Amino acid sequence: MGWFGKKEKEERTASDRAVQGKGDIHEGQSAHPQNQPAGDDTLSGRAAEAAAPKGEEADSSEKHSGKKGFFTRLKRGLAKTRNVLNTDIEDLFTGKRKVDEVLLEELEELLITSDIGVQTSMNLIERISKQSADISEAGQLISILKSEILSLLGDTCLTETSLQATPRVVMVIGVNGVGKTTTIGKLAAKAAADGEKVLIAAADTFRAAAVEQLSVWAERAGADLVRHRDGADPAAVAFDGVEAGMARGVDLVLVDTAGRLQTKTNLMAELKKIKRSIETKMPGAPHEILLVLDATTGQNAVSQASLFNEALEISALALTKLDGTAKGGIVISICSSLNIPLKFIGVGEGIEDLQMFDAREFVDALF
Ligand code: GDP
Ligand code: MG
Repeated sequence: MGWFGKKEKEERTASDRAVQGKGDIHEGQSAHPQNQPAGDDTLSGRAAEAAAPKGEEADSSEKHSGKKGFFTRLKRGLAKTRNVLNTDIEDLFTGKRKVDEVLLEELEELLITSDIGVQTSMNLIERISKQSADISEAGQLISILKSEILSLLGDTCLTETSLQATPRVVMVIGVNGVGKTTTIGKLAAKAAADGEKVLIAAADTFRAAAVEQLSVWAERAGADLVRHRDGADPAAVAFDGVEAGMARGVDLVLVDTAGRLQTKTNLMAELKKIKRSIETKMPGAPHEILLVLDATTGQNAVSQASLFNEALEISALALTKLDGTAKGGIVISICSSLNIPLKFIGVGEGIEDLQMFDAREFVDALF
């Protein structure tokens, strides 16, 4: 079973793969480079958007490839949170043998510091206070905390959507710079490695560099790319991408979109238009609306998720940059405060650095 619930399929033939590797590019008909959206309303901070992936990164990611390397990187990324949760909890017990109100208050503060969020921390404290009679040392508290966190994660974060349409259309959205394009590249690579035929629609048409970045990823993954001229209507690109995906018998269509602030209503309306245009071409699509969040933004990620969800009804989340954050606690906050499954986590810039979220593995990395 692939990451988007593909049906088991026979291995593709070598010649199929060779065709796939060509990275077939579909150009838009007319060229009006001057026809760029006005104002930068859209795309504040767009300059920060990354250039195409570097070969060097690909090499270094290979060293980290596999489940074990991924776990090591996740653990390293969560080091700061882990310190708070282990060392500081032990400190709470110096000179004390029981869990009283003062200790619970200090613990709540620690949880909030590790970016678990106020509401979620209060929730955890309430659960722990009910078991306080059973706790007389740090080890016991940590093990209870671990199982309570796991239950918070497990409630909302283990849902597996099974998508059986052909092609499955995944629309990827989020604020600028969170890792949408990179995540698409990684997803494309994983699906292609599983023997799927993948097509990427470059519906971030705001500037040429965005499409170039995507085309490097597409080529790497051996995926087809559908692109129009710069500044083209992103809804038209998405439409053409789905149409080409259907015509070519593709398994997975990934639609990249321009980054936008969740508070800009005109830009959220543009996203809705892209979604409608996908639906028009293929009823029932998009089958997944994947919101990408950057873990280093901490609690703001929760606000992004709720506003994007209001506009688009997100079906799954991807959380990137867990390698670079001190704020791993955000995962718990996201899972417990939003009713949207966390499906993928990213711990680096390489193709191998994206995995399906596994709550148990995450809690193990946290403590
Ligand atoms: P987009 O604007 O949402 O499409 O974001 P990009 O995909 O262009 O990514 C922005 C930057 O974040 C790039 O430099 C990526 O290499 C980097 N990035 C993406 N995912 C991760 C991740 O999981 N970890 C780290 N450390 N960097 C990441
Ligand atoms: Mg992008």
